[in-house]
Amino acid sequence: MDKPVQKVVIAGGGTAGWMTATLLRKVLPPTTVIELVESEQIGIIGVGEATIPPIQIFNRFVNLDQAAFLRETHATIKLAIRFENWRREGDCYYHTFGAPGANVGFCGFQHHWLRGQAMGLEPSLWDYDLHYLACEQGLFNTIDTTNPVHQLQYAYHFDSSLYGQFLRRMAEQAGVVRTEGMIEQVLQDSGNGFITGLQLKGGHRIEGDLFVDCTGMRGLLIRQALGVTFEDWSRWLPADSALAVPSERHEHTAPYTRSIAHRVGWQWRIPLTHRNGNGLVYSSRYLDDDDARRMLMDNLDTKALDEPRKIAFRTGRTQQQWHKNVVAIGLSSGFLEPLESTSIHLIQSGIVRLMKMFPNHGIDPAMVELYNAESKEEFETIRDFIILHYHVNERDDSEFWRDMRAMEIPDRLQQKIAAFSACGAVFNEQQDIFRDASWIEVMMGQGIMPRDYHPSADALPEARFREMMQQVFRAKREPLSRLLPHDQFLKQVSGV
Ligand SMILES: Cc1cc2nc3c(=O)[nH]c(=O)nc-3n(C[C@H](O)[C@H](O)[C@H](O)COP(=O)(O)OP(=O)(O)OC[C@H]3O[C@@H](n4cnc5c(N)ncnc54)[C@H](O)[C@@H]3O)c2cc1C
Repeated sequence: MDKPVQKVVIAGGGTAGWMTATLLRKVLPPTTVIELVESEQIGIIGVGEATIPPIQIFNRFVNLDQAAFLRETHATIKLAIRFENWRREGDCYYHTFGAPGANVGFCGFQHHWLRGQAMGLEPSLWDYDLHYLACEQGLFNTIDTTNPVHQLQYAYHFDSSLYGQFLRRMAEQAGVVRTEGMIEQVLQDSGNGFITGLQLKGGHRIEGDLFVDCTGMRGLLIRQALGVTFEDWSRWLPADSALAVPSERHEHTAPYTRSIAHRVGWQWRIPLTHRNGNGLVYSSRYLDDDDARRMLMDNLDTKALDEPRKIAFRTGRTQQQWHKNVVAIGLSSGFLEPLESTSIHLIQSGIVRLMKMFPNHGIDPAMVELYNAESKEEFETIRDFIILHYHVNERDDSEFWRDMRAMEIPDRLQQKIAAFSACGAVFNEQQDIFRDASWIEVMMGQGIMPRDYHPSADALPEARFREMMQQVFRAKREPLSRLLPHDQFLKQVSGV
């Protein structure tokens, strides 16, 4: 297509649709018309409560009012995920948004810690992580510092349907046109197959130049109309079902998500200011819905506020996330279970990628190819990170965990595990959203202990090395006195 994009049509008004509308309106010139069509009759998926730190960049970029956002979405702070029973029953570790230790010399801190272990130093890797310490004590505050050792990286837990509505108000005020209606037919050019318009029930037609498919798992434009295939990843990630239920909130709000592994599958527990979100993720191959329901309800620690709701899903990705003049963003582009809270982030990175490659005088195949290559790698690195949690386990209480341990995993993940097991080395892919510290905490948390460490960790003489480790240990504790109980912080910032 060599015609300029004068009008963008967004199909779907879930979190993906409204995040896309808000950001596009902010970046594109006012002469580019943006219209979003959604159907209240169909509704949105309505789950999704945990995020990762880059959401702050999005919120800041669209000038979102932080206090109003916290209040209206019932948001709380998230510093980490606490993984319980994953390695084996009774075991627990945190995947935090921070990094253990500090930059000392050439090699990563894990190498120094490994040297310390060999010398008999007692603190665990997490004892050098401020985020872990804050989680354990239920503390948080924004700290004004340029010292990376003292910085707290954080994200939010929030009600994503309210977040979508919050953004909707901002987008509409900024000029996005919203049309209520059910898309009944997708109209295509008979020559090149490009989408020309969406026909709504009742006959109204919405025409456009570029279409963003935010219609959720059905992928109405990208898959149903354009026929792009879905790449199935259930051989590695067999979960295909979730049961979600809200329950009463706890007296004190934890600044982290809990991910509790069960005999089959796992359960999330996410604290919001007015309730807890809970859900069980499982595979119908290993657990039927009645048993899943019992497992979920038996493991709630506060009173349920509703009946559990089932959501079926397929794990995998839409093979080309940009095809012809359609870009798939959100669940239409693929789905990975919410173990590492990555779906809303994938929406954000999809929009940012689209903005970077946005066509001016026509869609260039080179940009489409680049977009697809980058999103493929991003999805695959997250997939591998999630597989890691399942695969490296020592549980022997069910066929499910034994199968997860025995499965053949993607080569790249195999290489990462082998490199870390050998000498604590971590190698990063360009599109990987998880940094070294994330891989280290999860690999060690799941029980991989490197056999060796980098020789440069031996550079300091022993007495000086012990002193350095003590200094880092103390430095990580220093900001604790400046933190507040999490609930007090929320009250102070949002006024609730
Ligand atoms: C069990 C579960 C837990 C999750 N937890 C998390 C989490 O903790 N963190 C996280 O980041 N993500 C999570 N997610 C993912 C998150 O919910 C989604 O990424 C997010 O809500 C975006 O959804 P969406 O906007 O793509 O789709 P949807 O919310 O399904 O929206 C689809 C939109 O398309 C419209 N539509 C569809 N068909 C038509 C039609 N024919 N005509 C008109 N309109 C139409 C609908 O009306 C709706 O507005 C979770 C998902 C699941 C399933």
